[in-house]
Amino acid sequence: MGDSTQFIIAGNWKMNGMLDESLAFVDALTENPSPTAVEMAICPPFTLLHPLSKPFADKGVKLGAQSVYFEESGAFTGSISPLMVKDAGCHYVILGHSERRDIMHEDNALLLKKLNAVWKHGLEPMFCIGEHLEEREAGTTNDVLKGQLSVLEGTDTSLPLTVAYEPVWAIGTGKTASPEQVSETHAFVHEELARLGRTCKVLYGGSVNAGNAESLMACAGVDGALVGGASLKADSFMEIVAAASRVAA
Ligand code: PEP
Repeated sequence: MGDSTQFIIAGNWKMNGMLDESLAFVDALTENPSPTAVEMAICPPFTLLHPLSKPFADKGVKLGAQSVYFEESGAFTGSISPLMVKDAGCHYVILGHSERRDIMHEDNALLLKKLNAVWKHGLEPMFCIGEHLEEREAGTTNDVLKGQLSVLEGTDTSLPLTVAYEPVWAIGTGKTASPEQVSETHAFVHEELARLGRTCKVLYGGSVNAGNAESLMACAGVDGALVGGASLKADSFMEIVAAASRVAA
């Protein structure tokens, strides 16, 4: 896939986490069993980026932000810029998460501005795509994903990118896509990315946990996981890392 590790296990804490509990999370992290095969990353809320930057770096965990605005600075009350999250030590920025698309109405035009701003500051987008249940049931999953990936059309293919395929109906619901659905959809996403001139990792997201991670990571075309709920506790996060390292072995 072009870079060193086989799998990326990334945690998305969403709007969860206080300073004390996040420092306790860092203390409770055990050693990554296969650091050369499995990369660990956590995307905490903005307030925790600076305080967690060094503790995570010491434990071999890359830091990510969950969003950014596209401007660098200025009169944009309440917004955080790519420059700021870079300054806080981030490597990744999640963009296109379904919660941002659905609740904050982020569309392709805005996401393109954000992608360009993130790239400009040497950050790596973790670009999320995924279909709603009605779209899967209507058989339009691939069209939806193609439309979401079309934002990448014409962008510089040498810039870093990780994609996360997250069926919206599997996020926070306890439902996961079947291995067949995962393999088929990841094959389509890789194919579409290749058409856009890109080879990159495609993570699966949607109710990944310690119990299902191994079978999901074993699916063809899956290069890791974006994990919400199960990333909030160090033990379940580490169990997912361990599952990925078993598949990598
Ligand atoms: C997510 O928010 O990206 C996610 C996959 O959440 P969960 O693992 O809780 O379904």
